[in-house]
Amino acid sequence: MQNVIISLILSLVLASFAFFKKALTNNALILAFIFAFLITYFGGISSFLMLTTVFLSTVIAGIIKKEKRKEITKDIHQKGHQKDIGSIIANVAPGTIALLIYGFTKNEIFLVVYACLMAEAISDSLASDIGILSKKAPINILTFKRSKPGLSGNISLLGIFSSLIGSLLIALIYYLFNLNLINGIIITICGFLGNFIDSYLGAALQVKYKCSKCGIITEKEEHCQTKTKYYKGLKIFNNDVVNIISNILSGMLGLILLIIIK
Ligand SMILES: [Zn+2]
Repeated sequence: MQNVIISLILSLVLASFAFFKKALTNNALILAFIFAFLITYFGGISSFLMLTTVFLSTVIAGIIKKEKRKEITKDIHQKGHQKDIGSIIANVAPGTIALLIYGFTKNEIFLVVYACLMAEAISDSLASDIGILSKKAPINILTFKRSKPGLSGNISLLGIFSSLIGSLLIALIYYLFNLNLINGIIITICGFLGNFIDSYLGAALQVKYKCSKCGIITEKEEHCQTKTKYYKGLKIFNNDVVNIISNILSGMLGLILLIIIK
């Protein structure tokens, strides 16, 4: 009973912060609260701290040079800055499921898999939000050609560096609670590689459109007040789908590495 109350209080604090920062849409807020409760109840304080770190880093990264980011993304990204239910599912649902499995099996491997999934989530979000501010134009991960900032599949040194810092942060929290260096290294690797998987899928499969009026390549379905035309990629592969697939793949990579070293 004590655990239920502590988990409820902590999730409520996190959800209230998200509410006052207007970080999430209403539906996303309710779902995030449920996920936060399950994560804290089954995974304990360390898991709650990892979730909080992912969330706070997203909020803080969003504040840095907000206007510049808005200017870059307004013609490209389908969604605004507020995270909706799709973003919450893509970034937090796999981690919540890993902790549910941990809760029922008590197999510690799933606690590490959760950390890998959180490391991937923070890694991807920092790579996009901070990487987009890179002074040098990014390169496309498939063609290695210089590309316009903001498009999925682009990578920059600043983004790669930010994603590594994010992964290390989650690994550090895991290490402080569990003192297991090998697992900490696995978490860092999974988070860091997960971000590359995300960029690769973003470049190779994510749907992109072209504006028939101004010719811009975009992820938006509408530009210059007209419907954009299909340009490349698979139509079901929007940003959320790419995110959840790369999140799950990095968790599976973690699971495989953990089984191998056992
Ligand atoms: Zn246009």
